[in-house]
Amino acid sequence: MSKKVKIANLIIGGGEKIAIQSMSTFKIAQVDKAVEECLRLKDAGLDIMRYSVTDEQDAKAFALVKRKVDIPLVADIHFDYKLALASIDGGADKIRINPGNIGSEEKVSQVAQALKSAKIPVRVGSNSGSIEKEFLQKYGRNEVALGESALKKVSQLEKYGVNDIVISVKSSDVRLAVKAYEYVASKTDYPLHLGVTEAGREYHGTIKNAIGIGSLLLKGIGDTLRVSLSADPMREVIAGKAILSALDLAGDSVKIIACPTCGRCAWDCMGFAEKVEKRVEFIKKPLKIAVMGCVVNGPGEASDADLGVAGGKDGCVIFVKGKIVKKVAEKDLEKEFFEEIDRCLQ
Ligand code: SF4
Repeated sequence: MSKKVKIANLIIGGGEKIAIQSMSTFKIAQVDKAVEECLRLKDAGLDIMRYSVTDEQDAKAFALVKRKVDIPLVADIHFDYKLALASIDGGADKIRINPGNIGSEEKVSQVAQALKSAKIPVRVGSNSGSIEKEFLQKYGRNEVALGESALKKVSQLEKYGVNDIVISVKSSDVRLAVKAYEYVASKTDYPLHLGVTEAGREYHGTIKNAIGIGSLLLKGIGDTLRVSLSADPMREVIAGKAILSALDLAGDSVKIIACPTCGRCAWDCMGFAEKVEKRVEFIKKPLKIAVMGCVVNGPGEASDADLGVAGGKDGCVIFVKGKIVKKVAEKDLEKEFFEEIDRCLQ
C-alpha cells in the first residue's frame, strides 16, 4: 500500500479514497473565474485543482482563490524555480515540478527547503516525451526508462529531505503508461497520480483513460487521477467519477443501469435514461437506479436496483428491488419518477 500524503485537508494514498484532479484551462490570476470554476467542479466531484503558473501574478493568486474555495490547489511550474518559490509563498497547497527542469543544485535545494518549511507535497514525474537521455540510451523508450526517469527526480528531492512526494509516469500510449505505473509501484511506496496524457477529445480520450487508469486501479495501483481530455474540465471530472463509480471506488454516488433496448422496447427508454442521468449527476448518495426498456424483462433483469422504471406501450411501471410499486402513464413518468428519486435520497 502507498504511503499517505497530506494536501491541505485532503489525505491521498494509503487506501484513502482515490482523488479526482483536473487542470484549469485558464490562469488562476483571473481570481473570480477560478473561484467560480472550482466551486462548479467541486459540486461535480472534483477533489484537487491544478493551475499552470506562468508569472508572479499567478503565484500570488493562490491565497486569494483559497479564501473562497476549500479544495487543494496545485501550482504547476515548468522551468522557473522562482515561480515555484513564489507559488509556495503564495499559498499553493502542492506544487508539480520537475527538479531536472529547475536548474542548478542550489535552486533545487532552495525549492526543497521551501517545500519543507511550508509542509506541502510535490508531484514529480516523467512522460514519454521527456524521458531522460541516460535512460533512453540505456533502456530504449519503454516503461523502465519512463519509470527510472521519474524515480531519479524523486531522489533529487529526497537528497534534500523532501518526503511528501507524489509520482506520475504519463504517456499517451496506454500500454506504456500502464506498464510504467506498474514498474514504479513495484519500486516505491509513494502515492501515484494516474493519467493517460494527451488522450484526445472526450469520447476516445475517456476510453483511453478508462482502460489505462481502470486497469491500474483494478490492481490496487493509484491514489489520484486525472482524465486528460481536450474538453471542458467538467467533462474530465465527470469521466473520472464514472471510472471510479464503475469500479465501486467513487464513495457515495448514484449509479445508473440502463438496458441497451431491443425490439421489445416500446417507449423512449434511451431519452429517459439521459434525463435521469442529468438529474442525479451531482448527487453524492449511494443509490442504484435502473431504466429498462420493457415491463416483461426489465424489473427482473434489474432486481438489484434500489429504484427502477420499465416502460411499455400501455405505460410505465416503477419498481423497487424488482417489485412493481406503481404504474404511470409515460407523460407523467418524469414527475412521478423524479419524486421517487427524491424520496429515496431523503
Ligand atoms: S429489458 Fe426488455 S427492452 Fe431492455 S434489452 Fe431486456 S428485453 Fe430488451
